[in-house]
Amino acid sequence: MPLHPETQAIHVDVPDLNGARPLSVPLYQTANFGYDNPEDLAEAISRPESFAYLRNSNPTVRALENAVSQLEGAAASLAAASGIGAIHTVLHTLLGSGDHIIVQRHLYGGTFALLKDLEARFGIAVTYVDGRDPAEVTAALRPTTKVLYLETISNPTAQVTDLPAFFAVGRAARLTCVVDNTFASPMGCRPLSMGADVVVHSSTKFLSGHCDVLGGIASFADAGLHRRVWSRSLETGAIADPFAAWLTLRGLATLGLRMRRHHETADGLAHFLSRHPGVEKVHWPGLPDHPAHELAQRLLPNGYGGVFAIDVAGGRKETLEFTRRLRLVDRAVSLGGFKTLVQQPSATSHRSMDAEGLRAIGITEGTVRIAVGLEHLEDLKADFAQALS
Ligand SMILES: *Cc1c(COP(=O)(O)O)cnc(C)c1O
Repeated sequence: MPLHPETQAIHVDVPDLNGARPLSVPLYQTANFGYDNPEDLAEAISRPESFAYLRNSNPTVRALENAVSQLEGAAASLAAASGIGAIHTVLHTLLGSGDHIIVQRHLYGGTFALLKDLEARFGIAVTYVDGRDPAEVTAALRPTTKVLYLETISNPTAQVTDLPAFFAVGRAARLTCVVDNTFASPMGCRPLSMGADVVVHSSTKFLSGHCDVLGGIASFADAGLHRRVWSRSLETGAIADPFAAWLTLRGLATLGLRMRRHHETADGLAHFLSRHPGVEKVHWPGLPDHPAHELAQRLLPNGYGGVFAIDVAGGRKETLEFTRRLRLVDRAVSLGGFKTLVQQPSATSHRSMDAEGLRAIGITEGTVRIAVGLEHLEDLKADFAQALS
């Protein structure tokens, strides 16, 4: 029987040192490796499997890549310096001048900025679709379309994409299907099993989980594509540092526990806020009026992560005042760590979008994103209640 993901995240491969196995993956903080035989070195430098120079590979980084490959059911993975580093390297491998990519409109702000740049400077055409109906992809197809790019759960309004339905259309058109699975984590969703070719994560978020590291990872169904992206990463140089990989592995061991707790607390807080008169709207898939309520139950039976948004009643002033008054909860960007954080997407993560673009994805000046951490639910409820009063 295949192991459950919670168990896989704990039982990661460790090096065998003449029969003795360290229980935690050692930190190989070395930039290069020496060889007795110069021909072995020449061989090692050209293969992703071998260790020669840190930009090519490193045993601690490899252990993280193997662990995430296990979790995502991938042939191979590539760890990167950041989530955007992983996305950048993947898209630069898959797209060239004149190519076309179809992307869902509800998109991480940094990815949106990257696509704008690809469009303006490299003549790569981008079509945005709502992500509700796979027929939109069929309608957007061109002879030059190469990539379909989706997110499992979107930021910040927690739209859920019907990944199997979209990938079916993408695969029929021979597109490479890429999905950002950061918000669901592999505990919530395994997109490769639903037809994706590439899964990317910002491991800065849930995978590491402790607000102390920047990292990204891309997992591939096909080892050949992994190798192409690995070659590209030697040029972009956005590779993972061993210490960052080590911290991420440390966090990974508790991913299963943490994701369950994030979901439960977010669900409790979202229900609480949905009954509060100071809150106009709560965007959480666990609420029956969320557009993805049924889809989330079907696609994400293990939970919806821990990030959602609220629209504060009033306007910009009331919203700023509310966030300023929070005591326990901090005002900060990022998500997926142990601390609960709030931020206004229109002023931070989505600042590269204009007003029309923001409206199209349901973000107003009253929208506040809540990244639920691991505190006790009652303490969070009390803090939100006093700040909204
Ligand atoms: C944070 C984030 C990224 C970018 O990751 P970095 O590690 O900050 O570079 C990409 N996608 C999503 C969904 C994110 O939340």
